[in-house]
Amino acid sequence: MNGAVNMNDPKISAKELDSLFKPKSIAIIGASSKDLSIGNVIIKNLVHYGYTGKIYPINPKEPEIRGIKAYPTIFDVEGEIDLAHVIIPSKFVPQIIEDCGKKGIKSVIINSAGFSENGDEGIALQKAFLDTAKKYGVRVFGPNCQGIINTDPQYKAYCDFTFTFPEPGAVSIVALSGGVGAFIMQSLFDLEIGMRYYASNGNACDISISDVLNYYGEDEGTKAIILYTEGLSNPLEFMEVVKRVAKKKPILCMKSGRTEEGSKAAASHTGSLAGVDISTELIFEKTGLLSFTNEEEMCQASMAFSTQPIPKGNRVGIITNTGGPAVIATDELVSAGMQIPALSERAINILKQTQLPEATIGNPIDVVATGGGSHFRSALDVLMDEETIDSVFINFVTAPFTDTDEVARNIVEVNAKRIKPIVCNFMTNMSLERFQVTAKILKDGGVPCYSFPTTAAKALGALYRYHKVQNRNIGEPKTFSVDKSKADSIISTNKNIDTFLSSDKVYELLSAYGIPVADWRLVNSVDDAIKAAKEIGFPVVLKADAASLVHKSDMGGVAINLKNEDDVKRVATEMKNKFNASDLKFFIQKFMPGGRELIGGVSAKKDLGHLIMFGIGGIYVEVLKDVVFKLSPVTQVEANEMLSSIKATKLLDGVRGEKGINKKSVTEIIQRISQLVTDYPQIQEMDLNPIMAFEDKAFVVDARIKI
Ligand code: ADP
Ligand code: MG
Repeated sequence: MNGAVNMNDPKISAKELDSLFKPKSIAIIGASSKDLSIGNVIIKNLVHYGYTGKIYPINPKEPEIRGIKAYPTIFDVEGEIDLAHVIIPSKFVPQIIEDCGKKGIKSVIINSAGFSENGDEGIALQKAFLDTAKKYGVRVFGPNCQGIINTDPQYKAYCDFTFTFPEPGAVSIVALSGGVGAFIMQSLFDLEIGMRYYASNGNACDISISDVLNYYGEDEGTKAIILYTEGLSNPLEFMEVVKRVAKKKPILCMKSGRTEEGSKAAASHTGSLAGVDISTELIFEKTGLLSFTNEEEMCQASMAFSTQPIPKGNRVGIITNTGGPAVIATDELVSAGMQIPALSERAINILKQTQLPEATIGNPIDVVATGGGSHFRSALDVLMDEETIDSVFINFVTAPFTDTDEVARNIVEVNAKRIKPIVCNFMTNMSLERFQVTAKILKDGGVPCYSFPTTAAKALGALYRYHKVQNRNIGEPKTFSVDKSKADSIISTNKNIDTFLSSDKVYELLSAYGIPVADWRLVNSVDDAIKAAKEIGFPVVLKADAASLVHKSDMGGVAINLKNEDDVKRVATEMKNKFNASDLKFFIQKFMPGGRELIGGVSAKKDLGHLIMFGIGGIYVEVLKDVVFKLSPVTQVEANEMLSSIKATKLLDGVRGEKGINKKSVTEIIQRISQLVTDYPQIQEMDLNPIMAFEDKAFVVDARIKI
């Protein structure tokens, strides 16, 4: 090793992965003469796709496979081998990896299954071959995986057993699941979107999704990346890598598993409201990835990303030669947050001179069905010049009485200048040869064409979403001055792990971190309750406090608005008789009526940090489920986004004459919570419900913290 290891460096450098993605020679260990076997299909695919390097089938018995000379072992191959496919029963894999190491093979794709996905024996085998691979510096792709594809004409490496033979292009795919990877590849193929690299790495025991993404990031030929995953094994490494890659090129991504099955039934709100694993999506958001919930939309959008520049804003100019589809597109564009601004006087004057008399001059510019190449051209030129337009949406129906090729050529000429992004809703009959020609002109000219206005508008919407992602600067987390030694003493004296802190510790901890709480006392007897209430000042709230009382008000353990000593005495006595818990105490608190009840919360995520929650609180929180999450540490920008992204965000401003709340104090509480859990990763769960927010301030009036 030369020099220090940079923590931000990916585990495997792009250069090291060249042996996987750009192999000059490939051995197929487990090559087979049986047509219906993986060891045969891979050779067939390599040949069919026109692999430019050397293929070495390895088989102890066969002299040749698919007409290619075979070798009994890799040691019988004279030349160097860059990459080996391993397609033999799992129990033989550790020995074969040893052989690969000795032969100096740099990367292996282990297609065989029967490893970590297959119980203890498989786990042991995976560990065994991985140890050997490490010893020799062999990089492992898989096991239990498909492989990789490099469409570059210089390589044409189809190291995979699938059946789609993609055209070279600029979109690279990485998918944990081979099934999803394969259909994304097929979908790109059907949409005639060229592909650059493909990788599906199964168990991903060595070369990870992050390593592949890093490789794609460094690759000049990759203009956009599609990522599909079901979760992340090393989220922090992933975040480091994609933060960097996402700055250079768009990463369109999708994570499945949105249903409730994975949700754990946690006692506290935050745990159960977080539901399924949402942390992966929060990572996508934090690191600037473009997340999709619909795989088709993601593939469609990739066509625009691989051909178009990113718009500088949300203002769209529309050119159409038919009415209705432009209306549909407008609806979709607007719901994607885009605007269709009026054109300048200058633009209108030019259009008046260049368009047909029956054309509608405005935005949309309706060049009408009889409009030809020159009319589309002048409209395009005007929009490209127009300062208040960031992107162009074209609705192009192939009217049979016009020279559609001429229209297409004009669109292509303007598109080639890459001034502003263009997407086209192309309406035609592709079974007619004449229009196939038109379509080909557009396609060869890199104009993303769609067959539905909504689809085209969604693709443009995705480009705009990426513009926002790129320009979103969440800033750095603030560090508030806090009483760390006080917090240390509370946390370190808590010896029982997996327990909730006692109420007094909870409120002391919050105060140590500058989180405002309603004045409180924790006492043991009815008499002390009365004394405490007098100290705090009436009216007060009295809460039964015992480890067994989770949702206190459900069990009649909360009495609000106690106005005098008698009230306190009566209620405390009642509660004492009712609960009869040996650890029962009384929690007396200042009554703070009339605030907006909000919720703040935290739940720890293994290997990642904490999810921070904010939303509408109170006793209906589970019913309303109006909460949002971010990943700690939360910055001021993110805290603001949390307030503005709940459904009932308008409630925070006050409705129908009500006063709004002090948002600044709420965002500060969120950030202080974030700082607290970042300082103390051992905090497992935290619930501040409600946080009572008023016009001038906000206070926590109920809190639980689990260490
Ligand atoms: P739990 O969540 O265990 O049922 P809380 O302490 O959150 O108990 O109290 C339940 C409800 O009582 C709160 O949602 C709020 O409406 C009200 N409440 C509790 N404490 C106060 C207080 N100090 N001031 C005003 N209202 C309060
Ligand atoms: Mg509560």
